Amino acid sequence: MTKVLVRSRCMCGLAWCLVAIACAWGAPTGSSCPQTTGELYSRIRSVKLDPARVYHIREASIRKPTLDLSFEDGALAFTEDICGRITGAFFAGDGEVLLRPPNRVERASMALFTKMAILEEPFTSGYLRFNDDTAEVLRPYLSPAADAAEFLQEWGETAEKLGEFDALRLLLDFSHFLPPQAQGATSRTFPSLLHAHLIGKTLGAFEIFWDATNSEPLWAGQARTSNDETFFDVWTSFVPPVPASHAAPPRLGNVSCTAFQIHAAVHPPTELKAETQVEIRVRNGGPRMLLFELSRFLKVESVTAEGKPVDFLQNPALAGTELRRKGNDLVGIVFPAELKTGQQMKLTFRYAGDVLSDAGSGLLYVGARGNWYPNTGLSPATFDMEFRYPAKWTLVATGKLTSPTGGEAETNVEAAGETVSHWVSERPIVVAGFNLGRYQRTEAKSGKIVVRAFATGGVEKTFPKPAPELVVPPTFPGPRRTGDAPTPVITTTPPPPSPARNAQPVADRGAEVITSFSKWFGPFPYSSLALTQMPGDLSQGWPGMVFLSSFAFLNPREQEDLHIKPLFRELSNLVLAHEIAHQWWGDLILWKGYRDQWMMEGLANYSALLILERQNPGRFHDILEKYRNDLASKNKDDEFLREAGPVTLGQRLVSSHFPAGYDLITYERGTWLLHMLRSMMRDAESGPRVPRGAENPDEPFFRVLRKAVERFGGKSMSTTDLMQIFEEELPRPLWYDNRHKLDWFVDSWINGTAMPELSTREIRTTEKAGVTTVSGIIVQKDAPENLITAVPIYAESATNSLVYLGEVLADGKETSFRFTTPAKVRKVVVDPKQTILTAPK
Ligand SMILES: [Zn+2]
Repeated sequence: MTKVLVRSRCMCGLAWCLVAIACAWGAPTGSSCPQTTGELYSRIRSVKLDPARVYHIREASIRKPTLDLSFEDGALAFTEDICGRITGAFFAGDGEVLLRPPNRVERASMALFTKMAILEEPFTSGYLRFNDDTAEVLRPYLSPAADAAEFLQEWGETAEKLGEFDALRLLLDFSHFLPPQAQGATSRTFPSLLHAHLIGKTLGAFEIFWDATNSEPLWAGQARTSNDETFFDVWTSFVPPVPASHAAPPRLGNVSCTAFQIHAAVHPPTELKAETQVEIRVRNGGPRMLLFELSRFLKVESVTAEGKPVDFLQNPALAGTELRRKGNDLVGIVFPAELKTGQQMKLTFRYAGDVLSDAGSGLLYVGARGNWYPNTGLSPATFDMEFRYPAKWTLVATGKLTSPTGGEAETNVEAAGETVSHWVSERPIVVAGFNLGRYQRTEAKSGKIVVRAFATGGVEKTFPKPAPELVVPPTFPGPRRTGDAPTPVITTTPPPPSPARNAQPVADRGAEVITSFSKWFGPFPYSSLALTQMPGDLSQGWPGMVFLSSFAFLNPREQEDLHIKPLFRELSNLVLAHEIAHQWWGDLILWKGYRDQWMMEGLANYSALLILERQNPGRFHDILEKYRNDLASKNKDDEFLREAGPVTLGQRLVSSHFPAGYDLITYERGTWLLHMLRSMMRDAESGPRVPRGAENPDEPFFRVLRKAVERFGGKSMSTTDLMQIFEEELPRPLWYDNRHKLDWFVDSWINGTAMPELSTREIRTTEKAGVTTVSGIIVQKDAPENLITAVPIYAESATNSLVYLGEVLADGKETSFRFTTPAKVRKVVVDPKQTILTAPK
């Protein structure tokens, strides 16, 4: 229900107005409803302003929780109706929007982009698209317009273009009007949608979006170009306080895909052709139409449900704000009747297209890795996949190779020079994929787990070439004279890298990493792991299979030939362990929503660093310091990179201000947050009150990780879920206000961007009967007022050794502390091991 805000009303001539409007309103034209999905979609998409519905509007308002859109004075035209309903309006005149983000994180995000914590912006024009009673709500504030033709002339075209944006979203609702119509379909109400494209007086074009079927129904943002790249800056997104009547089941949760059967033929270097059968289970009945993700490069030939053809829509020109954010790789399926809760169905998609490309040296770049088969997002399902491809190629896929038997590698060369291999998931997995190349294969083992590395003898065409080296020949002693022959210059070019040559050490390292991770996090989830070379510098860890960048197959000599600096070599070496860590963090355990995705990158990255810490503690420290410096650096507009936002903003961190915001914040700050959690637990565990030798002080931290795997393996985990496990293991010195809660860490650090400066003042030490009392004040500078930080305090003894005194929960600007110690104290030191993400010194 939309509410109306009545500001004032002129009573004169009101009766006449109402009559006039009722006539102009026109009767619902349900009979004109298009009869096919394609026609209906095109009607919704290209809807025009209706010349019979142009009005003067005064003092009207549309209200949603936390949002007011007011139309003070101007002209407004509605769009032509579709199936008897009005779905759009264009306004020009004086309006104002007021949007109040409900919490500190959202107000900070709003302020980053608009310089206002609460959005209060006058606008001069706006296009509204809706599926609810918005037209009815505005109706009492309308009177006939004097200059209708002029208005249409000026705004008609703009309005028609903007109609494209929500066409697909509206089609999800309006599909109920397609034949055969269920009883009562025409009077059906839909979960509320309102999308406003506004031109602000100071902010320019921006959008406000309300969709009751979104997990966060209200958002606002703006498309903005920076350095020739267009970003969609999400200013804010949240769940407003919503009355029960607004609650609607989230659209994305309508169905789950439970099983996939895929028959695919791969024709290098470009084509994939497939028939995929998806078993779906309807979680929330009601819809007649479902959306599936599928690469826009794969053209759908047919879709059947339980063997019967169904109507589908796949249009590369599909557009919409949501699509703009995700890419328009969608296929819409319209069913003959509305889906019922609990209903199960087999859908079969046939499609083909070019999703591979030749990268050179027997390497193919497999594009559309996440959407080469139709799916409804990441959720656990079983996969049974058969691939056909030319015999000279080696294909590796997620799951266990069941045919040809033996499980080593596919060898089933048929007469036609075609290989067929068959892969079955060992447990439900969230995503399935394949990689292929002219690979050579090596193998290593971690207990019973087989680790195979697949690599080619060369690298992709685009790989950097080692620079020729100048070899200075020996010179004869003595001064050179003019006329002497010039010293010959000899250059040698290092041999090109060969991933296949280095595949064995890669497999061996993979096996070692699995051994460590299994000990720390619990058993490896599959019987084998494939490490497959992929062109480019990106890597991805999928269930039981890693797409591993060619760079990760370089040996130290080849890294040196490419003049890769030592710290970057170390970062490159971390990639293997990082991707293997995703087998637990991201593959076995999913993240719940975009605000939780940081945990997976943070945990994967920190897991890889834990391996490095055991081998080279100095380098481990160097990498954390690099992250600290990165976060404290500024962009070209003099904004601190850390101000891109807290880790919990996920993909929203990518913006025109901070194009690399996501990587920087989730990987680097995310890693730091886990390092802080581990360090403060370890310190608190090794405090003077803990009996010596009770257990390894790192043990509670690892117990948290193991518990997370046990509890959330095969499920999705939220930041709150993980924090609850940390709270179970939280040592007493970290209890704030006597509660074993971590809400202070979540508020201050996880949902914050702080990098404070820590110092002490008024330090006093007194000695009495062999006991030293140390007191003082911890100062947090350059920090939010309510920042709470667990700060380890040490004493430097007379013999220069460091004695841990304890943990202080520094709360706000200044916090006093007092410790006693048997040691003689020369100096008090705050966090000497640099375990807190403070500003660089
Ligand atoms: Zn990752």
